[in-house]
Amino acid sequence: AAGPRRTVTRTTCGYCGVGCALDVHAVDGRVTVVSPAPDGPVNRGHACAKGRFAHGFLTSPERIVRPLLRRGGRLEPAGWDEAVEHVARGLREAVRGGGPDSVAAISSARATNEENYLLQKFMRVAIGTNNVDNCSRLCHAPSAAGLTASFGLPGGTDSFDDVERADCLLVVGANPVEAHPVVGARLLQRALRGARLVVADPRRVGLAHHADVHLRPRPGTDVALFHGLAHVLVAEGLVDGDFLRRRASGLEELTAVLADHPPDRVEGITGVPAGDVVRAARLYGTAGRPAILYGLGVTEHLHGTDGVRSLANLAILRGAVGTGRGFGINPLRGQNNVQGASDMGALPDALPGSAGIADPAARRRAGRVWGAEVPDRPGLRIPQMFAAAREGRLRALWVVGEDVCATDPDSSRVAEALDACPLVVCSELFLSETARRADVVLPAAAWPEKDGTFVNFDRRFQRVRPAVAAPPGVRSDFDAVHAVAAALGTDLGCPSPAAALDECARVAPLFAGISHGRLDREGAVHWPCPDPGLPGTAALYRERFATPDGLARLAAPPYLPPGEEPDDDYPLLLVTGRRWPHYNSGSMTRRTDNLRIEDAERLDLHPDDASRLGLRDGDPLTVESRRGRAALTARTSGDVPPGQVFCAFHFPSGGVNNLVSDRGDTVTSCPEYKVVAVRLRPG
Ligand code: SF4
Repeated sequence: AAGPRRTVTRTTCGYCGVGCALDVHAVDGRVTVVSPAPDGPVNRGHACAKGRFAHGFLTSPERIVRPLLRRGGRLEPAGWDEAVEHVARGLREAVRGGGPDSVAAISSARATNEENYLLQKFMRVAIGTNNVDNCSRLCHAPSAAGLTASFGLPGGTDSFDDVERADCLLVVGANPVEAHPVVGARLLQRALRGARLVVADPRRVGLAHHADVHLRPRPGTDVALFHGLAHVLVAEGLVDGDFLRRRASGLEELTAVLADHPPDRVEGITGVPAGDVVRAARLYGTAGRPAILYGLGVTEHLHGTDGVRSLANLAILRGAVGTGRGFGINPLRGQNNVQGASDMGALPDALPGSAGIADPAARRRAGRVWGAEVPDRPGLRIPQMFAAAREGRLRALWVVGEDVCATDPDSSRVAEALDACPLVVCSELFLSETARRADVVLPAAAWPEKDGTFVNFDRRFQRVRPAVAAPPGVRSDFDAVHAVAAALGTDLGCPSPAAALDECARVAPLFAGISHGRLDREGAVHWPCPDPGLPGTAALYRERFATPDGLARLAAPPYLPPGEEPDDDYPLLLVTGRRWPHYNSGSMTRRTDNLRIEDAERLDLHPDDASRLGLRDGDPLTVESRRGRAALTARTSGDVPPGQVFCAFHFPSGGVNNLVSDRGDTVTSCPEYKVVAVRLRPG
C-alpha cells in the first residue's frame, strides 16, 4: 500500500509584512510543521510564533466551506452557482438604480497581488467605477502619501539587507519585537553588535529596554518631536550641506519652521526632556550610516502624513537617502501584503504601479491592456464608502478578507453602514463580525492554500505557493472574482495568477520585469524592476529622486495638536497596537494554539493609575470613550506611562474599536487609532 504523501512547499508567510520565507511540511494534504527557510531573503532561517505555529486555523471546524445566502434574515448554505448569480444580480440592480459609483469593494492585504489586481480590474472594467480601496487606508496610507511627496515613490527607500551596515537605528512608533518579530530580532542583534539605538515610543516597548535613548512623546506630538530633532541637526551643523544643495529642496521653509522648535519648546509640547532630544539628534546626526524604521505609531494620527514627512526630513538633512550612506527611511508594514495591495491599484485614486487615476496617459495605458475605458473620477475611500452606505448612496459593497466591523474605527457605525447597504458580499474564512452582517458570504482560501505573490515591507516580491489544497467548497478570491465577472458577462482575461502578474507588468512599468517564472528562479525581486533583463532595485534614488524635478523635498508642516486630548471627563489616553501571539482581528490566530499564550484582550495600565482606580491584575473593567465602550480586564504594566493605557484588538468580543474615532489623517483619512481619550470604570 502507498504510504503517506509527504510534501514540502516553499511559500511566504501570510501574517506580518516582514515576508518570511517558510517551508510548509504537509502529510496527506494536512500541514504538520512549518519551518523557516534557511535561505529566506529576509528571515535567513528565522520565523516567529505566528509563522511557525499559527496554522491550526486551516482545519478549524469553524471554516466556512459553503457559500451562505441571507434568506428570511438568516444566513443559509447555498451552492456556488446560486451565490454567484445572486451577487451578479445584486450588482446589476445596484448599477441600474444608482450607477457604477453606487458599488464599492474593499480589498485586502490578506489577498495576493494577483487577487488585488483582479479585483481592482473587476471594479474598473466590469462595474465601471474607481470605488476600490484596501486596508492600507487604516494603517500606512500616510506612508504612501508622505514618502511619495518627499521622494516620489510610495515605498520604503532601502532594502532591509542594508540595515546590517547601519550604525545608528532610529526606531519610531513601532514595536517590532512583538509586531514584526524577525525584524525586531535583527535590529536587536545589530544594536548588540554596536549600532546605537534610539527608540521613540510612548511605551517602553521591547527594543526600548536596549536603547541608548528612549524618547517617550505624548501621543499625537510626533511632528513637534521630529522638528525638534531636525532643529538640533541644523543648529549643530550635523547636516550634509552638499547633498542639500544638489539633491533637495525646501530647506529655507523648513529652517523657518525649525526656528520655532528648540528642544526646550519641544519638551513643553511632547513631554520629552530637552536633553534627550539633543542626545538623540546627536546620535543620529553623527552616525555614518543612520537608519530610520517606523510603524503605525507615526501614521495613525490626525496629522499622520505630516509625521511621515517630518520624519523623512531627518534622512534628507543627513543625506542618508539615495546616496548609499545609511538605510534611509522605511515603514514597517503591519500586514503581509499591505504594500502589494496598494501597488496593484486597489486604491480609489491610483492604478497598478502607483499611476494616478488623474493621469490621462496612465488611464490610456491601462485601458489599452484591458480593452476598456478606465473611469477618471477618483473613487471613495473606505470611510467614505461607509458614509455613503449610511446615506443610502451605496447600494452594493464587496468586502474581501477584511473584518471591517472589528477593525475599523467607531465600529458600531461601520455595522450601521453595512446594515444600510442593500447588498453586502463578504469573502471570508470564518463567520467574522462582518460576515455575520453580510447578505452573501463566499468561503475563501487562506494563504497556505493560495498561488500568487506578496510584496513585503521593503518592496520585495516573493512567491506564495499552495502548500495544501483548500477544503472542498472553498475557492480563492481570484476564482471568486472571475466567477462573478463571468456572471456579469465580463471576461477579465488573465486565467491564472501567473497570467495576471504578466498582465499587471504590462500595465505598470514599475513591475515590468517581474513574473512568477523569474521569482521561481531568483526567490525575490525588489520593485522597481522595469525590465526582465534588469535586477530589481534594492535601494532607491541613487541617480535622482522620483519627484518631477528629481529632488528630495523637505517638508515644513506646522505642529498641530491631535484630534483628541485628555480632559476631566476622559482623563486617560488609549493607544492600540499588537501583541506578539496574535494578528489583527485574530480571526486566524485565535483559532490556533497561540490562544493558549494569550486567551483574551487585556488593558495595560500603569500601577499608579491602577491603584488610584482600585484595580488589580485580572479585575474586569469598562473602558469608555466619546464613541462607545469596551469590556476588558486590567493588567498593570510599568511599560505604559502614567495617564496612558494600551490594548490590542485581537479579540473582537472586547469591542475595542468602538472606542476609536473615525476622525482621520487630514491627507489620507487614515484613522487616529493612536490617540483616544478614555475613562475607566471597574466592573
Ligand atoms: Fe515572519 Fe512576520 Fe510571519 Fe513572523 S509573522 S514568521 S515575523 S512574516
